[in-house]
Amino acid sequence: MAWRLPTNSFLSASSFVHVSPSSHSLPIASSPTKTLSTASFSRRRPNITRAVLQWNRKPQLAGETPRVVVITSGKGGVGKTTTTANIGLSLARLGFSVVAIDADVGLRNLDLLLGLENRVNYTAVEVINGDCRLDQALVRDKRWPSFELLCISKPRSKLPLSFGSKAITWLVDALRSRTAGHPDFVLIDCPAGIDAGFITAIAPADEAVLVTTPDITALRDADRVTGLLECDGIRDIKMIVNRVRTDLIRGEDMMSVLDVQEMLGLPLLGVIPEDAEVIKSTNRGFPLVLNKPPALAGLAFEQAAWRLVEQDSMTAVMVEEEPKKRGFFSFFGG
Ligand code: ADP
Ligand code: MG
Repeated sequence: MAWRLPTNSFLSASSFVHVSPSSHSLPIASSPTKTLSTASFSRRRPNITRAVLQWNRKPQLAGETPRVVVITSGKGGVGKTTTTANIGLSLARLGFSVVAIDADVGLRNLDLLLGLENRVNYTAVEVINGDCRLDQALVRDKRWPSFELLCISKPRSKLPLSFGSKAITWLVDALRSRTAGHPDFVLIDCPAGIDAGFITAIAPADEAVLVTTPDITALRDADRVTGLLECDGIRDIKMIVNRVRTDLIRGEDMMSVLDVQEMLGLPLLGVIPEDAEVIKSTNRGFPLVLNKPPALAGLAFEQAAWRLVEQDSMTAVMVEEEPKKRGFFSFFGG
């Protein structure tokens, strides 16, 4: 029996070979999930044609729209902005309309990641001050027109005192009632920390995606943030574990995804590997999920987006078999 839950949590190196309880999950992520025996796994090698064909299915949108989701973490540099850009564009590619709000005021960089920095003429602060209309501040992505970006303020500016929870809630309400139709998703890229910027960013959200890396400092901050989100009435909190490295986990130098899940006790939306392609795409202003052929981390973001749509989650499991020997699709659980 090769598939089993970990006895030694540090040994769960392939805990990002994961399965989802839902039959709706992306095929490469999950299909053989009910039978976790080695025999069934090795006999049923991933069928690439079947996997690719099933990408044609549109996920079922769960919950009331617009779904207002804050992407948060506590600690900085763990991948919130990367997650917002990639999940946002994945949702647009899946056929949903998305508005991504960059609420990281002083260190705004979602526009850079998306390659839209030259097209931001107006910001939310100007909308609130009555200097422009909301639609003038929304920057439409030319690659995926159902994706729009809204920046709160100009780079390097401080959050104006007048811009707080009420202002951002007003903006989201304005998106809800706009004549062109409300978006399916409003994603809010939250600043690091737990001060005014954080309080503002979480105010209009009904759901949260907590991004963490498998290190103790990020986890402590993530735990604190979870408590604050719950105090604010946000009960639907799922986590993304980012920058996971199997080699380090196998060498017991990195916590496994199972350890992280055990510590935070949150449903798992996705597991993203450390991938040099993320840094390359950041520098090119071309989000990873648009890469052809797809990068490993890009596929993982796509899967996370799929689960977000269906309000699904995944379960990390452990397999003893060497993942390298099982090739590309082993990462996604075949
Ligand atoms: P945050 O918004 O939480 O501050 P960012 O999304 O800006 O974090 O990411 C911080 C840095 O980490 C960026 O340079 C980004 O390219 C890099 N990064 C994020 N996720 C990954 C990953 N899975 N693999 C490699 N680099 C990553
Ligand atoms: Mg950021």
